[in-house]
Amino acid sequence: MNWRVPLCRPSFSEAELEAMLEAYRSGWVSPGPETARLEEAFCEYTGAGHGVAVSSCSAGLHLACLASGLGPGDQVIVPSLTFTSTVSAAVHVGATPRFADIAGPTEPWLSAEAVAAALDERTRGIITMHYGGHLGETIEIVELARKRDLVLIEDAAHAAGSWLQGRHAGTFGTAGVFSFSASKNLGIGEGGMLVTANSELAARAGSLSWHGLGSQIWQRHQQAAPVYELGALGFNYRFDDPRAALVHSRLQRLDADNRRRAAIDSYYREAFAEHELIEPTAAPPAGERSSYCLFTAVLDPRVDRDRFRQAVAERGVQTSVHYPLLHRSGVHAQPTVRLPHTEEYGRRCVTLPLYPQMEQWQVELVVETVCAVLAQTTGAAAAA
Ligand SMILES: *Cc1c(COP(=O)(O)O)cnc(C)c1O
Repeated sequence: MNWRVPLCRPSFSEAELEAMLEAYRSGWVSPGPETARLEEAFCEYTGAGHGVAVSSCSAGLHLACLASGLGPGDQVIVPSLTFTSTVSAAVHVGATPRFADIAGPTEPWLSAEAVAAALDERTRGIITMHYGGHLGETIEIVELARKRDLVLIEDAAHAAGSWLQGRHAGTFGTAGVFSFSASKNLGIGEGGMLVTANSELAARAGSLSWHGLGSQIWQRHQQAAPVYELGALGFNYRFDDPRAALVHSRLQRLDADNRRRAAIDSYYREAFAEHELIEPTAAPPAGERSSYCLFTAVLDPRVDRDRFRQAVAERGVQTSVHYPLLHRSGVHAQPTVRLPHTEEYGRRCVTLPLYPQMEQWQVELVVETVCAVLAQTTGAAAAA
């Protein structure tokens, strides 16, 4: 389908591509100096103590669970309204996910109250997800984790550039993990970054991302030391220098990109403010800055979402649903679990296009299209 307005679209300047090409021309394309520079730059940008570049956010979440000691018999509290990786990270280390509800019908982030209610003697960790870049009830969840001495992992796939009370997403918990996957606001293709204040955790995660090797290839290359010893059962979850150079270069305009996202978000909010059939999800409060990775809204129960999305698609506007609920079907299904807000939101939510390079006519076309399609829906509802 040739969308007039796609949901998102990664973009690269010539200078950014040049930075990547420079890494290829250098003759060193494994993780090396550029990867180390990106890790440093990420720490500087977020205020984190340590950064470990990895092949994806999913890989980073898996490593965060392993390196923080979560394992079989442990219960980990997770949202259901998220991508599979948030939960599969816990499952991969043998832990048992326990789903908790979101904060409200238009507040699609983990509810601290629901997390508190889900805690029991087997609970060892919480994995939060900063939905669309919103930090939601992070402060309250950090407090819960601190009181109970729980591991807190932040799935910050959407949250590059988000902060709350002066602290960046990813730096509240035991570890935080960002994504460089194409659809994210720092998307370049594939890749991720684990950040943590804990140097031992960072060293463990870094080693496990290199097959459990203690010293990294670049260091050995420089020291001409050919021998190594396997210290642990690890993975190949490495990043590489050309992509690290590209992300590093992209990082320079992350704040400007997020500001443009914020402006589009405001335009949508104003346009839909008085509409009775569509309600944007709650905006970040004062003291919080979102990355505005996604623009999400809730449709009135009278609107048939599938038909709405179909009609909007026929007019060239791509939409999505974040997310099909994990507890309801598929590998993570827990059919007896009831999460009223999550289930309500999951039935009615829709994601509209949002990316910094959207042209003004595209932003306006989205609003016109949504309103026109909703007007048809009301007409049908009134006639029925
Ligand atoms: C995209 C996404 C991930 C996975 O990121 P990858 O880098 O593709 O592994 C994890 N969690 C959430 C919430 C995501 O949206």
